[in-house]
Amino acid sequence: MVQVDPIKAFNDNYIWAIYNEAQQNVWVVDPGQAEPVLEYLKQKNATLKGILVTHHHWDHTNGIETLLKHAPSIAVYGPTNSPFKGITHPLQEGDQVDVLGMQLNVIETPGHTLDHICYFNEALCFTGDTIFSGGCGRLMEGDAEQMWRSLSKFKHLHDSTLMYCTHEYTLTNLAFANAVEPNNVDIQNYQEWATTKVSSNKPTLPSTFAKERAINPFLRSSITSITANIPQHLCKDLSAPWKVFAALRAWKDTF
Ligand SMILES: [Zn+2]
Repeated sequence: MVQVDPIKAFNDNYIWAIYNEAQQNVWVVDPGQAEPVLEYLKQKNATLKGILVTHHHWDHTNGIETLLKHAPSIAVYGPTNSPFKGITHPLQEGDQVDVLGMQLNVIETPGHTLDHICYFNEALCFTGDTIFSGGCGRLMEGDAEQMWRSLSKFKHLHDSTLMYCTHEYTLTNLAFANAVEPNNVDIQNYQEWATTKVSSNKPTLPSTFAKERAINPFLRSSITSITANIPQHLCKDLSAPWKVFAALRAWKDTF
């Protein structure tokens, strides 16, 4: 059995540690910084056994070189088409990774970047910067239709599947979600809960896909009522769900 712990990095990143207590072994997801990971390993008296990368951005990969100096023989799994050069085990859609006895499946989710992948099984999903609680990644490399298609892949995940994303953006995302759906009580309740968490310096994550389906406007762009509050100048063409998604994403960019 493994547990998943948050390791805080930079201002609002989480490096997720997959930890097998019986074996004292750890894998980390997206280590943008080495120092907090090394500190975690020291506290647990555990050994780093592998690294998962979701995409090439520096705040997800910059710690890897230093971590490899401490654990030179470990595997670095990541997207096959990544501009990041440190990947030793390239992955594409449909591949599987064995992480301390836990099987993870790979889906390709381009949009935030072109190389983005997520790792999932029935219990959990590491979503990197593709989806956040209440929000989704900015379109830094891909386009809206591509991102919408990537987010549609999460439809196949269970309601109970835990969502581990990389950033603590929940409260700012919920402010936007509330503007999109001012009458959504689930958003208001979640906002209250998340405010208490953040003010006591605790993570709002992981979320669940049930919760995201209830509150995240970017997973709800096919719901008709969602178009009602989109600013007029962004409403030129809402004839397909991905176009509603594009309008929401453009609205959020300037919110
Ligand atoms: Zn990113």
